[in-house]
Amino acid sequence: MKIPFNKPYMTGKELWFISQAHANGHLAGDGDFTSKCNAWIENRVGCEKALLTHSCTAALEMTAILADIQPGDEVIMPSYTFVSTANAFLLRGAIPVFVDIRADTLNIDENKIEDAITSKTKAIVPVHYAGVGCEMDVIMEIAQRHNLLVIEDAAQGIMSNYKGRPLGSIGHMATLSFHETKNIISGEGGALLVNAPELVERAEIVREKGTNRRQFFRGQVDKYSWVDIGSSFLPGEIISAFLWAQMEEAEEITKRRLNIWNTYFQWFEACENLQQIRRPIVPANCSHNAHMFYLLLPDIKARTEFITNLKQRDIHAVFHYVPLDSSPMGRRFGRKNGDMSNTDNIANRLVRLPLWVGIEEHQAYVVQQILASLN
Ligand SMILES: *Cc1c(COP(=O)(O)O)cnc(C)c1O
Repeated sequence: MKIPFNKPYMTGKELWFISQAHANGHLAGDGDFTSKCNAWIENRVGCEKALLTHSCTAALEMTAILADIQPGDEVIMPSYTFVSTANAFLLRGAIPVFVDIRADTLNIDENKIEDAITSKTKAIVPVHYAGVGCEMDVIMEIAQRHNLLVIEDAAQGIMSNYKGRPLGSIGHMATLSFHETKNIISGEGGALLVNAPELVERAEIVREKGTNRRQFFRGQVDKYSWVDIGSSFLPGEIISAFLWAQMEEAEEITKRRLNIWNTYFQWFEACENLQQIRRPIVPANCSHNAHMFYLLLPDIKARTEFITNLKQRDIHAVFHYVPLDSSPMGRRFGRKNGDMSNTDNIANRLVRLPLWVGIEEHQAYVVQQILASLN
């Protein structure tokens, strides 16, 4: 039996909604399905404004424009993250400033942020790794004191809470991903969430190629014109129709993923007691969305053997990320603030297990194979 790392879950209604978009004859962006998805996010997250984009990467690029990033500005972020977190700001000429992560949640260490702030710092970008919230109260307090913007990279964080508040509702802006490896999917897809009311109007303009098209359609201006920089950041209706089917089932999908996550967590307790692995740590003030189940092996050698052993048993487990500070681009354009000992340690030891809706019936087999390969 082959167990893939990821298998995109479909609700069964995707094609039905796509056929409706087809029948409506509205295929460009911002039709009925996009509006429904935007409204769903605004309700679920409680953000001021949600705007679908064609990826989380695109939404991050929008945040860099909206934050008015200028060449030489600095943006603080973890080194242990996906490249888009840094690329979006580098594209505007900013210097990504890397800070180490916490050993428990693998999120940016909030106590190391202040030391990285200079007169050039413009923004802090916490990444909610594995859908577990960063220590947002501390981060928002630091940002307020230094007059900085906070942009939550909540690519992995839909349906998660920090102290009862949904991820994406806390920073000045936030981004979501609907890539097929995430919890709620449209193949490629994402959203920009705006919480600072003064940024909403410009967000709509930047997303529509720098035009005031949205205001024109609402009858707020009598000419449709080029008023700002921008690009085409919106998805077409076919993608939004697909996504709508997923949003309708978001609660159910999250519940099923949490069951799988909890099953892994219980079954690996004995191995943790034997110090063969370490399981994920979720702080009591966070409720998560089971985006990811990972194990920490003792070292890189043990991890390489683990992945190879599982591959021989037809189970596909993967690792990530190459720390950005040590990548060719990070070394050339970034600045590392302080040592990256947790980042380097975790990057060598972490392995992600298959976690997808439908794996339930094979999960006992997967765990059995993993236990056999550990012993
Ligand atoms: C997946 C991911 C992204 C990029 O999302 P896309 O929708 O593929 O552009 C950015 N940041 C993090 C932390 C991610 O996990």
